[in-house]
Amino acid sequence: MAMIAARAVTTDQETQILGVTWADGHESAIPYATLRDLCPCARCRNTREEGRPMLHMALTTRLLEWKRIGNYALNFSWGDSHDEGIFAYDYLRGLCPCGECEPARR
Ligand SMILES: [Zn+2]
Ligand SMILES: [Zn+2]
Repeated sequence: MAMIAARAVTTDQETQILGVTWADGHESAIPYATLRDLCPCARCRNTREEGRPMLHMALTTRLLEWKRIGNYALNFSWGDSHDEGIFAYDYLRGLCPCGECEPARR
């Protein structure tokens, strides 16, 4: 399946949820905590592979900004100066916790 692009992205510090509207019309509400726990950067990947606890962000940690990487990924900059994660669209879509996407992955 072709990769589905993220059309619109919203952030909400209050609810700590990232909103993504996809090119196919699907909408994802992905908690910030999920983005951090499953951050695809080398540092976080190593931490997970070695079974070490993930560096959890504080409740007050902000999502400072997000930007597009080419036409295939999003990158997030966190208030605790973690900004290495490159979330390819298909990876990000895979994090969608909605009732439609979740059962399809089981
Ligand atoms: Zn990371
Ligand atoms: Zn979904």
